[in-house]
Amino acid sequence: MTDQTNRRDLFKGAAVAGAAVAAGPAFAQATAAPALTDPQSKYTSQPFPEQRQKWPALQREMKPVPDSGEASYRGSGRLAGRKALVTGGDSGIGRAAVIAFAREGADVAINYYPSEEPDAQDVARLLRGEGRKVVLIPGDLTDEKFCRDLVVRANRELGGLDILVNNAAYQQSKASIAEITAEQFDRTMKTNVYAMFHICKAAIPLMKPGSAIINTGSVNSVNPGEELLDYATTKGAILIFTKGLAKQLGKQGIRVNMVAPGPIWTPLQVAGGQLPGKMGEFGQDTPLGRAGQPAELAGLYVALAEGGNSFTTGSAFGANGGTGAI
Ligand code: NAD
Ligand code: MG
Repeated sequence: MTDQTNRRDLFKGAAVAGAAVAAGPAFAQATAAPALTDPQSKYTSQPFPEQRQKWPALQREMKPVPDSGEASYRGSGRLAGRKALVTGGDSGIGRAAVIAFAREGADVAINYYPSEEPDAQDVARLLRGEGRKVVLIPGDLTDEKFCRDLVVRANRELGGLDILVNNAAYQQSKASIAEITAEQFDRTMKTNVYAMFHICKAAIPLMKPGSAIINTGSVNSVNPGEELLDYATTKGAILIFTKGLAKQLGKQGIRVNMVAPGPIWTPLQVAGGQLPGKMGEFGQDTPLGRAGQPAELAGLYVALAEGGNSFTTGSAFGANGGTGAI
């Protein structure tokens, strides 16, 4: 099964995806309104097959392959000329933001862990084929110096920086605090919290009034999963960091907001994000009866990046299928 066929199978409204594939890149700029779609049946509600990949896992090897909007996201120039840096932009939710930003007219720099090169190349090939500039900057975000270098490089190669998305994260499920090693705790903090701090600190002096910072939090920011103690602690920190930084940066005209996803089908989940044997339950208990797909969050990132929502800062926006968190 090809990636494309696999992805298409995710859609129950196969006609929508089929039209997207048939139309090719021009679809990204189409103006016709999409058909009214029932969110319950827009994507598969079948339990996902049990699977495990070595961390950090590749999107292209998941079954089914997640939908980051490759064939469906339509742009309309909402971010024309903007320069965006997205961490974890190779896959999952970050990839959905990258595709949406690019199709809205932004140039994009993507950071990812070096072993994710195949996923990063997939998204770069797609968007460069549509005429966008895509800068790939692999490197380990647990390294403070790399975080600073990442910002400098993105700013230099894009010719500026006005959208920053701190989206990368480390998540390993453990049933008990007794199973969380000091090393895991440290790595989760460094990836999810310290990197956001180092990157923001380096980026803010480069950002002009009107720029936007978007952090990816979680339903765990307010309602911790019991098997995600260390991860949920970082997601709570991201919510408070977002609100606090927004207060500081108001005077500079920089807005800071957070997206809080619920269960979304991404590589993070098959690289240790779920307890063994639990893949089939993933997302099944949401009011919409299924897990979300990364593409379903793209619009939130675009809305928080663009100038139209100019009075929105220090806020968190959920995409969780109705679980009642944020
Ligand atoms: P993902 O695996 O596609 O993205 C996570 C990315 O983090 C990886 O692609 C990787 O590039 C990056 N990363 C991790 N450690 C790194 C390191 N040391 N150096 C460089 N990059 C590193 O999974 P995703 O679910 O799309 O995750 C994106 C964000 O969404 C994360 O912040 C995650 O916490 C959040 N989130 C996801 C879900 C979900 O159900 N998938 C739910 C709530 C929140
Ligand atoms: Mg990845």
